[in-house]
Amino acid sequence: MVDCLDEAPETARQALLERVAAEIRETGEATGCCELSGRVWHALAAVPRHRFVPDEQQKWAYANTPLPIGRGQTISQPFIVALMTELLAPAPGATLLEIGTGSGYQAAVLAQLVRQVYSIERIPELARAAAQRLRELSIDNVEIRVGDGAQGWKEHAPFDGIMVTAAALAVPPALVQQLKPGGRLVIPVGEPGRTQDLQVIDKDQQGAVFSRSLLPVVFVPLIQSPA
Ligand code: SAH
Repeated sequence: MVDCLDEAPETARQALLERVAAEIRETGEATGCCELSGRVWHALAAVPRHRFVPDEQQKWAYANTPLPIGRGQTISQPFIVALMTELLAPAPGATLLEIGTGSGYQAAVLAQLVRQVYSIERIPELARAAAQRLRELSIDNVEIRVGDGAQGWKEHAPFDGIMVTAAALAVPPALVQQLKPGGRLVIPVGEPGRTQDLQVIDKDQQGAVFSRSLLPVVFVPLIQSPA
């Protein structure tokens, strides 16, 4: 890692965005997402990642790398956050569901782009800390609850888009059910401890479902039992 937070966070964040944009271009052939859009760039620029990272990791807050956030969990690599956000291509009026709130960073980025984000986290203390951070940053269009995200969030379904930020062994059926026609699910699928497939699953207007694998990624596992 070459990056650190010696400079002002804004400068470090701009440098990180340049790197993320370059990596989006470099992987464009595999992902079909060739350019970091202006909207996603601005969303990333608006969220201070250092506020989502523990004190002992501050130096690396604007490195293009995942970082530990406690309880064996990680805040995702900024490139992956950018890519998954682009893939969801959220429209301004959209309602989204995120599984795996973690630090709350990905939810905060999505919140810049859409009307409402719902996010589910399995570990209560992470959910509490994320909710507190979002309050401090006056991000008020994210609702977090503790639970098993594989079940989705029926009360607020259907969703325009669903993003899963932990690796599932298989695509949870409830999440596909809770997608609107025309909606999209972005999810890493595969076993923990090795690379998983980042998959995009589209539901068409007739309700038919199409999936494709984009690139190998590494996520912590989606665990389907109480914390
Ligand atoms: N999106 C997060 C990073 C997620 S790390 C961020 O921006 O910081 C993956 C998270 O998924 C972890 O916090 C983990 O506790 C959570 N998780 C794992 N299994 C889960 C499940 N079944 N339901 C909800 N959350 C889960």
